[in-house]
Amino acid sequence: MSTTTELNLKTDLFIDGAFVPSSSGRRFSTVNPATGETLAEVSEAAPEDLDRAVAAARRAFETGPWASMKPRQRGRILTRAADLLVSRADAFGRIETLDNGKPIFEAAKIDMPAAAECLAYFGESADKLTGDTFPPRTDALLMTLREPVGVVGAITPWNFPLLQAMWKIAPALALGNTVVLKPASATPLTALLFAELLAEAGLPPGAFQVLPGPGSVLGHSMAEHPGIDKISFTGETQTGKSILRAAAGTLKRVSLELGGKSPNVVFADADLDAAAKGAINAIFYGKGELCSAGSRLLVEESVHDALMERVVDRARKMSPGDPLDHKTRLGSLVSEKQRDVVARYVERGEKEGARLVAGGRRAAVNGRGAFFEATVFDGVAPDMTIAREEIFGPVLATLTFRDEADAVAVGNATIYGLAAAVWSRDIKKALRAAKALKAGTVWINAYNLYDPGLPFGGYKESGFGRERGRYALEEYSQVKSVWVDLT
Ligand code: NDP
Repeated sequence: MSTTTELNLKTDLFIDGAFVPSSSGRRFSTVNPATGETLAEVSEAAPEDLDRAVAAARRAFETGPWASMKPRQRGRILTRAADLLVSRADAFGRIETLDNGKPIFEAAKIDMPAAAECLAYFGESADKLTGDTFPPRTDALLMTLREPVGVVGAITPWNFPLLQAMWKIAPALALGNTVVLKPASATPLTALLFAELLAEAGLPPGAFQVLPGPGSVLGHSMAEHPGIDKISFTGETQTGKSILRAAAGTLKRVSLELGGKSPNVVFADADLDAAAKGAINAIFYGKGELCSAGSRLLVEESVHDALMERVVDRARKMSPGDPLDHKTRLGSLVSEKQRDVVARYVERGEKEGARLVAGGRRAAVNGRGAFFEATVFDGVAPDMTIAREEIFGPVLATLTFRDEADAVAVGNATIYGLAAAVWSRDIKKALRAAKALKAGTVWINAYNLYDPGLPFGGYKESGFGRERGRYALEEYSQVKSVWVDLT
């Protein structure tokens, strides 16, 4: 099953509650990276389509049924959508797997339930964000109102196509904003499928639009568009900088979730079996195409050999497999292009003197696909390219440290600050390190765990703004002060 007809997918733009062809009539292919087969020809939005979508979103925000809906009604639509998504997790997961190459186990059993949980969380939050009143005075009543920002432009990457989008769509809609979503060109399908689901759950026309199209043109135009009040972007740090520049002309609000080179720090007193398992999950979950991937394993010198024996043993057992097979834990990278990027980094690592101890080669399943072996480098120095740059693939760089201060110094020696982890049985040491590491999320004796209420976002060049939890509600609202004269 691989063509649009077989998958029964809608592939036009979704604007004002309906699927419509793009004004240019242009289409682009989306490909299954595990087989190289074209999955669908998707409509490519042109600038006029963006204007139409923004106008529909503006109407819905100002005057449509969405604008007059009570917060709890909005919330019910989102929780209904969450229930629908749970009941269709397998179908959505299958499309995500075909489009992205990730294992069906991850797409259907983890990503889709997490996306539904996010929707439910924000559906339940729709009537919970309140303003304040201020200490009483005899001449006036002072208060604040929390108001939606307006039309939100969401620009998302290909690694967790629907889940990343949900972190933006759910809080934005919960507060009464309207949304124009531009999914990544490599993985536009689940966003389009989700538009149908939201309509089925009762979302009125104009509240949500999906515009597939090239980031450098369409995404850039969104950042510049005077009709969009806020851009919420997830993707590469360089793209984030370009969006910030483009958004400056209209001074729209921007939040950026960008790249990472996260340190996963293992102290000598850690449970080494748990730490090894955690290190594998940290880098190979999602094929390493994960912003928060634990791509730098930092090991205390005295346990280096004991830990690496366990890590290498586990990595060698992680062979790439058919993403549609429920037993597969390492799928296909998202594209041949991404696989070439990863292969070039591996060559660079070897050239700069790091020791390749597992994987390192392109792979194929049934003779095809953009697969890459689970790869581990040992003996990596902090100044090597593979220790500094985000690879966004299944490649682990292992470095050693002498003591706690050294661990923190090496951990923080990066332009990024998205995530980090600390493994230790000494809670005081673990907490000291967690406080000293400059990252938006720090796990202790765990990795890659998420909760819809716990904020997520970056320090340093990993961006700013927070997704999830009440922090996300703040991102998608603005504060109005009201002064009521009582004299
Ligand atoms: P990109 O930055 O290339 O693309 C992300 C999105 O931006 C896509 O929709 C893309 O469109 C669009 N885009 C590209 N160029 C522009 C532009 N000039 N103006 C506006 N939009 C543009 O990132 P990737 O898709 O390659 O995703 C991988 C990156 O995302 C990694 O660096 C990773 O760390 C980061 N990421 C961060 C996360 C976080 O929460 N911090 C989570 C997940 C990923 P198109 O697809 O058409 O190019």
